[in-house]
Amino acid sequence: MRALTFQSNGHVSVETVPDPGILQPTDALVRITMAAVCGSDLHILHAGEAFGFQPGGRLGHEFLGTVEEVGAEVKHFAAGDRVLVSAGVCCGECQWCREGLKASCERMSMFGWAPRLWQHGGDVQGGQSEYARVPLADGTMVKIPESMADRSNEARLLPLIDVMSTAMHGLTAGRLEAGDDVVVIGDGAVGLSAVHVARAMGAQSIVCLGHHPDRLAMAERLGANVVTAERDPEAIKELARAATRGQGARVVVDSVSNTASMEAAHASVRSGGSIACLGMDHFMGKVPAINWYDQFVRNISITGGLVHMNRYIPHLLELAESGAVDPSPMLTHPMPLAEAAEGYRLMAEREAGVVKVALLTAD
Ligand SMILES: [Zn+2]
Ligand SMILES: [Zn+2]
Repeated sequence: MRALTFQSNGHVSVETVPDPGILQPTDALVRITMAAVCGSDLHILHAGEAFGFQPGGRLGHEFLGTVEEVGAEVKHFAAGDRVLVSAGVCCGECQWCREGLKASCERMSMFGWAPRLWQHGGDVQGGQSEYARVPLADGTMVKIPESMADRSNEARLLPLIDVMSTAMHGLTAGRLEAGDDVVVIGDGAVGLSAVHVARAMGAQSIVCLGHHPDRLAMAERLGANVVTAERDPEAIKELARAATRGQGARVVVDSVSNTASMEAAHASVRSGGSIACLGMDHFMGKVPAINWYDQFVRNISITGGLVHMNRYIPHLLELAESGAVDPSPMLTHPMPLAEAAEGYRLMAEREAGVVKVALLTAD
């Protein structure tokens, strides 16, 4: 089959790789019909060797498709089912999975990431491919409801897997309730998703801070009341107060999570509010400075963390089915899998108008 592969730092290409197949009785084989390129894939593009990538290693952790075959012990899926595949493999049965802490599953692995994050044998599976072997299929896959199974709905569904579930995780961890005010820091796909999910969860005022006019325009389209490219913390504080009846936001979603964004978060949050950190900098070993003085004297909760995707995807599917969310505008650049390397270039160079690339991997 054809798959997007890592070759060396700065270089990915679509190559022919061995066809995946069922290795364990709990596996499913999925024919992928649409996959996304994620901002985190760009970390692999730039520095994959540091993560243990070898030439030929597969990428991609956001994908959906059709079940081709299931192992003998898969109970909830059959050939022909349309499925969203969680970026994180999870068993659905261990202590952590039962508590909803899917990202802490004892058998957790990531599709399309470094070999050290894959514990299910065989090649690391990636979703920017024609097929993928999905381990622990009953815990890892979510069935697409019949009403949305048609391929014309794929762009409305694909962002639910990672960016929308990450956004919902931040808002849930921040204990958002209907009528609360939200400030979102960052206008990338996670920030835009946080705007959109906050709107669907009944937020009152939603402010989005970013630095790209095209993306801020999209934030307005997805539900933001106020958008701004302001960087000065004092000005951000004024702006956040003005948009929230003088209070500040109950929940700040920081999709960047570096020292500057945390400063903006403290400027935006109300006393007793929450800052949900969702950025990748922690994951990459860079820890932002947190204002522990402000945290203490104003009782700010610092929350967020690695998303438990399978906890949120079913709820997001219901919201998509009812029409309450439609994240398809974020998939700005659909293109065939064969052109995936160009898709990476578009995202890496942050060309104007590019939010997310979608790869169409089957007819
Ligand atoms: Zn992702
Ligand atoms: Zn588990």
